[in-house]
Amino acid sequence: MSDPAQTPLKVLVAGGGVAGLETLLALRDLAGDRVQATLLTPDTEFVVRPWTVQEPFARPVAQRYPLERVTADCGAVLHAGTLASVDPVAQVARTADDTEIAYEALVVALGAQPQVAYPHATTFRGGQDAEAVHGLLQDLEGGYLRRVAFVVPPGAAWPLPIYELALMTAERARSLALPGIEISLVTSEERPLGVFGVHASDAVAELLADAGITAHLGRYADVPNQNTVSFHPADGGIEVDRVVALPHLVGRPVAGLPSADEGFLPVDDTCAVIGGRNVWAAGDGTSFPIKQGGIASQQADAAAQAVAVVAGAPGVSPAPFKPTLRGMLLTGSGRKWLRAAVAGGAGEAASVVSEHALWWPPSKVAGRYLAPYLATLDASLASGTPTAAAGDVPVEVDLGHAAPRFHAEGDPSGGIEMLGG
Ligand SMILES: Cc1cc2nc3c(=O)[nH]c(=O)nc-3n(C[C@H](O)[C@H](O)[C@H](O)COP(=O)(O)OP(=O)(O)OC[C@H]3O[C@@H](n4cnc5c(N)ncnc54)[C@H](O)[C@@H]3O)c2cc1C
Repeated sequence: MSDPAQTPLKVLVAGGGVAGLETLLALRDLAGDRVQATLLTPDTEFVVRPWTVQEPFARPVAQRYPLERVTADCGAVLHAGTLASVDPVAQVARTADDTEIAYEALVVALGAQPQVAYPHATTFRGGQDAEAVHGLLQDLEGGYLRRVAFVVPPGAAWPLPIYELALMTAERARSLALPGIEISLVTSEERPLGVFGVHASDAVAELLADAGITAHLGRYADVPNQNTVSFHPADGGIEVDRVVALPHLVGRPVAGLPSADEGFLPVDDTCAVIGGRNVWAAGDGTSFPIKQGGIASQQADAAAQAVAVVAGAPGVSPAPFKPTLRGMLLTGSGRKWLRAAVAGGAGEAASVVSEHALWWPPSKVAGRYLAPYLATLDASLASGTPTAAAGDVPVEVDLGHAAPRFHAEGDPSGGIEMLGG
């Protein structure tokens, strides 16, 4: 353990996405000046990718935040570069341009690589594919195509955005009274968004039915050509005019670090890399099977907690990662808020669905530190005033609506959760 009077622990956080930023914010709060953090990333901005699903529909684009500002608010140094390899014995990271960065604790948060699962489909990975999906919508509106399938490929993927794209497309067709539109959703999930548990999944099934979307569940899809989605094992398929699919996610293996199946980093329940030394990992790039921003944040919190202990932060002890899924589903005409405990029973009592925010601030990525921080950063960037230090972030509570109504019995929180609490 380091002595507070001694030099701060050198922490290198690689990756400036959800997990990387949540790690920096959590470290600032938990360990303060006991750590000197560096963020290594090729990016200059943090983009809130979950909102990119709106971009094909000409709705507001995803928010972007300057990383220079975020790192300054966290008392961290921003190092532009790409992690290429790690020497775990010397505790040195090397960048693609051969710069060496010494660390005493390393948190790897590189996300996953989105790979095209079906060459004959339009793959939606985020903002870079918004134009292609927008073009498809224009063809739908122009009457050049009628039948669209939205497909979740087998393997690692976060399915929620394909539900959003399908629901928003159906809403667009309904609002324009387009005739004869057929929208299908194909997924290997046994229930729609079944990972959120029974109550939430039932509500999503109802949404799909109300929107006129045909759900093909428990189907492993193949897309042999632009007009066919076939189901596996051999049990038919559907003919369509176009297919929109999510990418298949694989890891970003780093030379010198262990890697599990498909290049993901193997982690234990404190998010320490298994077989690593003073290395933690968080987010989509780890072997944890659910690739979601809220989960990435919870992993980052566990990693930051463990690093804060190494830094000698008083009153901090390692806390295993206990995943809770929180999802905001854009339906085209509104939002649904979904929540479920992942481990220890995604049963009925743990599955909650509401038309009102279940957590505050009401963010799409429910990070304990990231969501309140970005809410204050929004206000600060708009007014030109400084941001409060991480950990001192005041969270304004303005419910502004009636108390949340739950469709589920036995909501464990009894109401809205404060993410920064
Ligand atoms: C369309 C879409 C909608 C989504 N909707 C939701 C949602 O509603 N709610 C939700 O919670 N989640 C949602 N997700 C998932 C969520 O975006 C991810 O789970 C989350 O971003 C993962 O965080 P991460 O930090 O692991 O990876 P990322 O956020 O991808 O960040 C990884 C970072 O590492 C950087 N990097 C990569 N390689 C290197 C390298 N070698 N060296 C240094 N840096 C590197 C990248 O540039 C990036 O900045 C959605 C995803 C998509 C694509």
